[in-house]
Amino acid sequence: MYRFDNILILHQQILVFMENETKNQLNFIEEIIEGELKTGKYETIITRFPPEPNGYLHIGHAKSICLNFGLKNKFKGKCNLRFDDTNPTKEEMEYVESIKKDVEWLGFEWDNLCFASDYFEQLYLWAIELIKKGKAYVDEQTPEQISEQRTNPRSKGIESPYRNRPFEESLDLFERMKNGEFETGSMVLRAKVDMDSPNMHMRDPIMYRILKQSHHRTGDKWCIYPMYDYAHGQSDYIEGITHSICTLEFEVHRPLYDWFLDQIITGVYRPRQIEFARLNLTYTVMSKRKLLELVKGNYVNGWDDPRMPTISGLRRRGYTPESIRNFAERIGVAKRENTIDVSLLEYCIREDLNFKANRVLVVIDPIKLIITNYPENQTETLEAVNNPEKEEAGKRTLSFSKELYIERDDFMEEPPKKYFRLSPGNEVRLRYAYFVKCTDVVKDINGNITEIHCTYDPETKGGKSNDGRKVKGTIHWVNAQDAIPIELRLYDRLFKEAFPDDLPEEKDYKEGLNPDSLKTITALAEASLKHAKPEEKFQFERKGYFVVDYDSTPQKPIFNRIVELRDSWSKISNK
Ligand code: ATP
Ligand code: MG
Repeated sequence: MYRFDNILILHQQILVFMENETKNQLNFIEEIIEGELKTGKYETIITRFPPEPNGYLHIGHAKSICLNFGLKNKFKGKCNLRFDDTNPTKEEMEYVESIKKDVEWLGFEWDNLCFASDYFEQLYLWAIELIKKGKAYVDEQTPEQISEQRTNPRSKGIESPYRNRPFEESLDLFERMKNGEFETGSMVLRAKVDMDSPNMHMRDPIMYRILKQSHHRTGDKWCIYPMYDYAHGQSDYIEGITHSICTLEFEVHRPLYDWFLDQIITGVYRPRQIEFARLNLTYTVMSKRKLLELVKGNYVNGWDDPRMPTISGLRRRGYTPESIRNFAERIGVAKRENTIDVSLLEYCIREDLNFKANRVLVVIDPIKLIITNYPENQTETLEAVNNPEKEEAGKRTLSFSKELYIERDDFMEEPPKKYFRLSPGNEVRLRYAYFVKCTDVVKDINGNITEIHCTYDPETKGGKSNDGRKVKGTIHWVNAQDAIPIELRLYDRLFKEAFPDDLPEEKDYKEGLNPDSLKTITALAEASLKHAKPEEKFQFERKGYFVVDYDSTPQKPIFNRIVELRDSWSKISNK
């Protein structure tokens, strides 16, 4: 795994880094805020999380949510959830609902639920004031002409022939734009800023465009829509936002953010834009456009496919809100772009589930084991510990009888050295049960093993011997009498490439998809899993963490693999 243009941060590095850090150290944004609260610049702070409702939220958004709502919690301030719904062509109510659900699920509460579309009237009135002050004008050129005249940062821009038209003309045209008299794309309202600025965003940016498109909230009331740069800061101002936190690519927009605010600010209060590094993660893509393409092209089964980096996908995969919040805390808030190795996210869910998930026995690739000296028709119950990390999780019973299933790869006819599992003549412990010793095997005509025969030592109940005899291996099993078949969806990383966004230009990121990211198999589980409910999580001992899928029914239980117990990818990719 390598990368040139960006730093890759591996989870081991972060953990070492965390250990060296004193806990509760402030990140750079918290430091700024603490300073401002001390000097009395603000009494309370207000932040906002401003998604555009044009897709489902992903783990990158989770970082921004944890940051913005985290500031609210830390400094006893407020945080708004604001839908940045200024582009009706890509936005839908379905996305609004999913975003609300995801923020709540992550464990945060917004103070105000806001929509930029609620400010359309105010934004329109402010635009009229700008026109009257000679700071905005209607341009009738094509978007191509406008873009050409901006030239490049090293040359001066070319002024539009409409730049200095009388403001009355612009006022009249702008009103008629609003009334629907002109076609989509025929004219725009531009701010008159600076056509020679080295910052291209300042070269008379577009404030409004005509879009004859119904909006998911305002219907057909408007056919002109404000652009992000104009709408965002003014919306912050309307809501009294003190700290408007966004990702680094908006740093170059900041002078414009401030310029628009300069036009309306009358008192001392002014929202402040602060940028931080967005989250990039290995083995996935994060742009909503690409995620939408994966959904629409059926590369995955919807936005909440357990392989997706979306919050709904992670939820279905079995991630907990705590694990995602801990992940966000660990990666911190940086000023420089970097990429975090996805194994850190996986570490965070393992760490959380180690304490939360009950252990169960499931055999994924079964082979029959017969205990030849165990009484026919006898069934006994054995005690099993639900979670050794959590005493209050208690105990359960397992049934045990003559015929069991064990994992095919827990037996080897001709074992190499240091193979401590079952092999002819070797003794192992059956988890929570007895010591068993392999006596012989039964094979079919092709020479494949179909049954393993063992004897058991009745004196070793509970997995301990009275004579001090030790066994090195412990294997899991299920009782053939009452084991239930369950469907397992074995998920792996969606991309086989660590940096699917960085493939050579002639390649599409989709070429980096992992063809083996989902395998569906049937396994045999201990009977207690019959009653498991969707979203319930378990550790299948020695195999990994699993969650009950929403598609699961008592007749056909379905489990998704959340993560294996150990990181098997780092082994593969270091080869
Ligand atoms: P797109 O993929 O369409 O560019 P977006 O990721 O910018 O969309 P928005 O809905 O505009 O999506 O984002 C809402 C907020 O989440 C913004 O403040 C944005 O800066 C933040 N955000 C988006 N992606 C990330 C990320 N990868 N890391 C951290 N914050 C992010
Ligand atoms: Mg965006």
